[in-house]
Amino acid sequence: MKKVLGSFLFAGILMGLAMSPVSALAQVKALVGGTVVDLESGKTVPNAVVLIENERITAVGPSDRVTVPSGAERIDAKGRYLLPGFMNMHVHLGLKLPGAAGAALANESDAELALRMAENARKSLYVGATTVRLPGDARHAEFAVKAAIERGEIQGPRIYSAGEALTPTGGHGASRYAKGVDGPVEAMKHTRSQIMAGASWIKLMISKGLADESGDIAASDMTLEEMKAVTDIAHRQGVKLTAHSGSPAATLEALEAGVDSFEHGYYLNKEVFRAMKKKGAWYIPTIVVSQEGVLEFFTKIGAPDWYVGRVHEVGKSHWSALETAIELGVNIAMGTDQFPYEPNQGTTSVVRETELYVEAGMTPVRALRAAMVEPARMMGIDGDLGGIAVGKYADIVGIQGDPLKDISALRSLDFVMKGGTVVRDDG
Ligand SMILES: [Zn+2]
Repeated sequence: MKKVLGSFLFAGILMGLAMSPVSALAQVKALVGGTVVDLESGKTVPNAVVLIENERITAVGPSDRVTVPSGAERIDAKGRYLLPGFMNMHVHLGLKLPGAAGAALANESDAELALRMAENARKSLYVGATTVRLPGDARHAEFAVKAAIERGEIQGPRIYSAGEALTPTGGHGASRYAKGVDGPVEAMKHTRSQIMAGASWIKLMISKGLADESGDIAASDMTLEEMKAVTDIAHRQGVKLTAHSGSPAATLEALEAGVDSFEHGYYLNKEVFRAMKKKGAWYIPTIVVSQEGVLEFFTKIGAPDWYVGRVHEVGKSHWSALETAIELGVNIAMGTDQFPYEPNQGTTSVVRETELYVEAGMTPVRALRAAMVEPARMMGIDGDLGGIAVGKYADIVGIQGDPLKDISALRSLDFVMKGGTVVRDDG
């Protein structure tokens, strides 16, 4: 009896010894053997170890300098190049455009919209978009999706939303998802309502766009007084503003009002980009929406001829706007205005958008920064996101080649981790 009890005790002590370091380290994960692409130095770290504890990176470096603690969960990354996740600054999870596909959603209920958004969120994360900024979605359904993701009920990217965009009556998006407001008072009230609902950005439609059947994209639709009112309200609460703009005139007025970032910029020119640079404003090109690759998407959604026509009309000037912004060194953050996973010329829209930045003049490292690092700086969350570095969330994607040599290596993406949780591992 004594002997049995003794061996029980002994076993207990052994178990205790064995258990305590393991349970203390249960949260530690080690991503082992991959090549970390350091987008600060523009250099690679081969055979690296990335240690993750409680969603955040605690160590990163070559394997001869970073030791994997015993009991850590090892995730093999051999053969992969590791990058921070894509941060897509222009996504509508409830995207609904002119055409047959959009018309079929005419009577979509709030519940149906939230479910459709949830599925789009899951698919976005799967292709490596670990963070998205939503510059305008309808009926606040995205806040329910965001909350469900944060509670771990469903999978999706980190979501930053502008709530419902504001547009002048009859302005861009008025018939689909933006709220028509006129005059400073209505604009202020709408702005406050979005912030109350959880918006961390405010989106204004300061010019017409491609998806409007009529209206001059280069005109300025909002008054300076309206823009100033909205900017004042948002900035008082630490909320930034982004403007849909194809128009040089509207962009100059919005800059004067203090708007922080500008989407699309179809007709922006040197003068406007110089003014943006001077103010430190940001440009989100969404170049995929006006280039050749978008045509397969338009066929799929049954886009009307007028819509396709407007795209052809702006394609060239949109492209030269992007080239000009790159040449002048304007702050650029990646955004697609398509679902991140939308097929585009044999890859996804996030990858294609990033490739196009290189085609328009960026070096690969600058394009990767625009897609994975700069957005965090634009949003003021670069302490948490935008790099594989100690202290940041472990939002990491893996690809099968060196993107600094060939940006199209992004097409081989087959690994996605968000906050230390492996979302996808095709290897
Ligand atoms: Zn948009």
